[in-house]
Amino acid sequence: MDEQEMLRAAIPPLLAWFHQNKRELPWRTGRTPYTALVAELMLQQTRVEAVKERYVLFLERFPTAESLAAADEEEVLKFWEGLGYYSRARNLHKAAKIIAREGFPQTWVGLRALPGVGDYTAGAVASIALGLPAPAVDGNVLRILTRFFADGRNIAQDGTKKYFSRLLEGVYPPETADFTEALMELGATVCVPNGPPTCGACPWSDRCKAHLAGEEERYPVRTEKRARRVERLLVYVLRQGKKYAIRKRPAKGLLAGLWEFPNEPAEGASSPQGAGTVVAVREAKHIFTHVEWHMTGYLIEVGPSQAQEGLVWATAEEVRTRYALPSAFKAFMEWIE
Ligand code: SF4
Repeated sequence: MDEQEMLRAAIPPLLAWFHQNKRELPWRTGRTPYTALVAELMLQQTRVEAVKERYVLFLERFPTAESLAAADEEEVLKFWEGLGYYSRARNLHKAAKIIAREGFPQTWVGLRALPGVGDYTAGAVASIALGLPAPAVDGNVLRILTRFFADGRNIAQDGTKKYFSRLLEGVYPPETADFTEALMELGATVCVPNGPPTCGACPWSDRCKAHLAGEEERYPVRTEKRARRVERLLVYVLRQGKKYAIRKRPAKGLLAGLWEFPNEPAEGASSPQGAGTVVAVREAKHIFTHVEWHMTGYLIEVGPSQAQEGLVWATAEEVRTRYALPSAFKAFMEWIE
């Protein structure tokens, strides 16, 4: 049995277990796409117990994206008290304004473009609230799956997350919300991170390879290797008709004087949606000797009035031949070719 078949066969027992054992959590009733987004943002880096009460109070005050969008930031932050990581509240507030203006995104790409929404949150909301077969792979899911397959892949490497995301994508059942939540629930209550998992209560104990070998705690494998500094960048491929915006890098430093797509450090960056309409998002990595660029690229349609200082507008042909962007941006060149 290959891995997809093995996983597909394991879904019905997982869903049956979930229906019988799921915890009652406030965000599981009366759910809308907006409330699912609020819950997922609150749950980032925060324990379920700490979120429960804050979630209820927050939604009593801001029951819809419109009500949140209309509120003062001060008040929003007040209702976030106790949860920490206030940038999440600011991002949620910005996201609510976008949603109030443009409607709730209907695709993973649209969700991913909202401020504060990464791959995991986009997958969680897309599958839980929009019925899309979009995996939400975090440390919990990686732990469960590496144990299930007794897979020694290093979970500290980006490729591992991608590998398991693809595997999940290929098997998503029609009950997308239940499947995503069942995996989360299994990771939170049974296949737990600290201490041995309680395999006796697990719906997969008859097929989990690590358990059958008595080696649950050998997985996941995690080997940190951090020789290079990681810089996270947002890269904007701005398209206006048949032309693309590029600019010249500073005369000193990395890739000095070469051309590039406009970009900025991800830390503190504002929403790319402000610049125009995001039509695609993709991740890319480029490794230099001492630095790694972890880039999130946005292909954005902009209107004619949005010319900005320092930008040169060039056709695809010109970008390719005349300006010759460094290979660090190769992944995004595919959009213009
Ligand atoms: S059998 Fe044990 S190790 Fe395997 S998935 Fe279930 S809880 Fe985790």
